[in-house]
Amino acid sequence: PSNNVIPIFRNAIRFGDKTALRDLQGDYTYRGLFLSSRQFSNELSDILNGKQQERVAFLLPNDARYIIVQWACWMSGQIAVPLNASSPPSVLNYYLKDSNAKVIITTSEHAPMLECLVKGSDCRLMVFDDALRVLAMKPDGKTANNKSYEKYEYDFGDSEETPLKDEFYNDSNAMFVYTSGTTGVPKGVVMSHRNLQSQMNALITAWKWSEKDIILHTLPLNHVHGIVNVLMCPLYVGARCVMLPKFETSNVWTHLLGINLQNSERCNMFMAVPTIYMKLIQEYEQLFSKNTKMKEYVHTVCSTKIRLMVSGSAPLPKPIFDRWEEITGHRLLERYGMTETGMVLSNPLEGQRIPGTVGTPLPGVHVRITKQEGGNIPEVLAEGSWAGTKVINNRKGPIVGDLQVKGESVFREYWKKPEATGKEFTKDEWFKTGDTAQYDKGVYSILGRSSVDIIKTGGYKVSALQVETAILGHPDIIDCAVVGLPDITWGEKVAAVVVAREGAEIILSQLREFGKKSLPEYAVPTVLKVVDRIPKNSMGKVNKPDLLTAVFPKNQ
Ligand code: ATP
Ligand code: MG
Repeated sequence: PSNNVIPIFRNAIRFGDKTALRDLQGDYTYRGLFLSSRQFSNELSDILNGKQQERVAFLLPNDARYIIVQWACWMSGQIAVPLNASSPPSVLNYYLKDSNAKVIITTSEHAPMLECLVKGSDCRLMVFDDALRVLAMKPDGKTANNKSYEKYEYDFGDSEETPLKDEFYNDSNAMFVYTSGTTGVPKGVVMSHRNLQSQMNALITAWKWSEKDIILHTLPLNHVHGIVNVLMCPLYVGARCVMLPKFETSNVWTHLLGINLQNSERCNMFMAVPTIYMKLIQEYEQLFSKNTKMKEYVHTVCSTKIRLMVSGSAPLPKPIFDRWEEITGHRLLERYGMTETGMVLSNPLEGQRIPGTVGTPLPGVHVRITKQEGGNIPEVLAEGSWAGTKVINNRKGPIVGDLQVKGESVFREYWKKPEATGKEFTKDEWFKTGDTAQYDKGVYSILGRSSVDIIKTGGYKVSALQVETAILGHPDIIDCAVVGLPDITWGEKVAAVVVAREGAEIILSQLREFGKKSLPEYAVPTVLKVVDRIPKNSMGKVNKPDLLTAVFPKNQ
């Protein structure tokens, strides 16, 4: 392993009185967040009797409290288990029991529910409402709405002391993040401080994060996307995070356009999942698209004031990529990652971003594509890293197979699931992502999850993602998911579940005609189902096995 890890809170003290965070209540400096965390970490240590490496769960809103608690966990040597209020109580109960959390920290709003869940267990409930806010505010004690807070005074004398030695942070466990549960029960992914550090390093280098950046944050804080990419990266480099309590189209547009903001306060970066871009586009079509002046304004502001817009967590359909470029002038940077690995592949910051592809490996990450049938040690078809990709045996044309990953960012184990952990690593210690990837003309694309998105029909393998992208190009279709339906003759049939634009009618023969324009005949759907809505989880992902049962119950 490489050098000592520098924990985020320690790095952040370097930036002292710079603003680290703006939330609904106001601005918070790095030093303020640090001191609040230290105070909180002392309380945590008291509750846990000085023990370390206990699991500390928290269910907090997207604001300063989340950061204070995350840093406090790490200062006192605990393992952070971030949860989200969008999970139903039964799922929260699973997380608490599965992680064997010794403390759950929340606000008064959720305390009664969580109290019921932890009753009779050895998990302590801590309520964190407003108490420590004062400490984290800017020295002028003003909040965003100009409500005055008490001015704080404290002694900076030993402010840079934390109880643990730096070496502690290298390979000890830092956090459990539960996977999105798109294909089954969410698994607790155990991440070390080193994993997190190298996940951040990759993005800081590739996307050139700097102290000057200001990012708009509107994602759930219980997945890597919201935690590492959009919160930890900025705070690690001394940049600023502007955090919204939740995603709302109008609020996001207001912030992206920086209405009423001075240049030094405008966001210059934005990262989101494809459904968020889809909703922002829908709002734009309704509110702005008929107003030429407004259209020009949106385009000018976005293209001149914002330096980077990223999409990830789920496949980005080309129609969204294209429309977003028309509206804002930004070619979205699509990247691919997983809870287990952090970010893996990314389109370039500078250079061609190609829709439908996820670019090349990030710094420090090694990938390979292996033959799908592969035994214990599979046959490697291509191997790549930040330095470049090598196709084995000079094979010609697109390389398609299982995507595997190795590197310091790759997780250690699934919590309490040694069997699952064992199954997901090859003998030579590569992590099997479960995704099918293609390498062609110097870039990678994700064809989908090998288990549900690769449809085997009449001897062909069809990528559900590519069919979805084609169908979404239809002017009357606003959302779509493609699944394989079991079929005696074909093995599987390609079935499209679509949401039609209001007032539009979609029929199969017409959809097939449209599909044939961009897809090979065998990939064009032969089954169509029109629905009102395609259910998605908080990261904008479709659970295909569930969708299949809900829409085609007879086939199960
Ligand atoms: P679970 O593992 O519980 O079923 P999940 O795999 O959705 O849930 P995550 O770790 O949040 O949980 O998501 C990782 C997966 O998301 C990847 O394996 C991949 O299938 C998908 N993904 C992420 N980014 C992209 C992308 N840019 N294009 C296509 N798929 C993507
Ligand atoms: Mg997964």
